[in-house]
Amino acid sequence: MHTIDLHCHSDRSDGALSPRALIERAAARGVRMIALTDHDTLEGLSAAAETAKSCGIDFINGVEVSVSWGSVTLHVLGLRVDPSESRLAAGLVSIRAGRLRRAEAIALRLESKGIAGSLSGALALAANPEMVSRTHFARHLVASGVVKNMKTAFQRFLGEDKPAFVRHRWSALGDAIGWIRGAGGVAVLAHPGRYGLRPVRLHTLFSEFKSLGGEAVEVVTSSHTPQDVEQVANLACALGLRASAGSDFHSPEESWLDFGQLRELPPKCDPVWRDWPECRSFTRH
Ligand code: AMP
Ligand code: MN
Ligand code: MN
Ligand code: MN
Repeated sequence: MHTIDLHCHSDRSDGALSPRALIERAAARGVRMIALTDHDTLEGLSAAAETAKSCGIDFINGVEVSVSWGSVTLHVLGLRVDPSESRLAAGLVSIRAGRLRRAEAIALRLESKGIAGSLSGALALAANPEMVSRTHFARHLVASGVVKNMKTAFQRFLGEDKPAFVRHRWSALGDAIGWIRGAGGVAVLAHPGRYGLRPVRLHTLFSEFKSLGGEAVEVVTSSHTPQDVEQVANLACALGLRASAGSDFHSPEESWLDFGQLRELPPKCDPVWRDWPECRSFTRH
């Protein structure tokens, strides 16, 4: 079992648990080093760090930054960032500022499909209106009986190019990596297998990511098939990128994988945490 988990979400973005409950769950399930990586916000980090300390596990300050790379939306994890660094914080403010406007547009699309009241429904489920996301819309559609589960909400309405999908301009890839590095962090490309890119495009993305200062890619994560793991690991090795691992846990009911169920990194990978002081105390893989 993997004791390192460098990707998960609290209710400060689109997770279901408070930072405290999230870290307690991870610790109870055997995780020994964890990064909280909420989308576009650093708000949960101090409560999570405090909880990790009282549970006796190592904590990494993280964030998952939304990026537009051409027409593709990418997610870039910032690990070991300094939450008090002002350029990163300002960059995240600029990303969050667009979320409410996009939510209004999503609600209009849903209304044209005969589904009224989704903006207030989604906002009621979001702890912070600036952080309202498609996940909150999906939860609202499930709770109000429009669809039977989250998967169907994305398949029928909210997924890429579905009727309620609203294309949005997030941050530029170079900006996101620059903010992360400027805050002393390491930039990790999240779940590369999820972007639907053909091998040649994935190669282009990895090279560009590296040339802009990216250091690692997420090899092991819940949405990757064994084939994704193999492909991403090989490409990372070929291009000299390090490897990360994280569950992308959002909620006990919705997540594909709970804490403590991650596979180990393939042995050929160079773990992103290899020289981190936080993991001196235990196994490096
Ligand atoms: P947003 O940043 O508002 O566009 O929302 C993206 C979030 O939606 C992701 O971080 C996931 O948590 C969630 N998501 C995207 N696709 C799916 C899916 N097919 N099933 C469940 N959740 C999804
Ligand atoms: Mn999410
Ligand atoms: Mn993501
Ligand atoms: Mn995530």
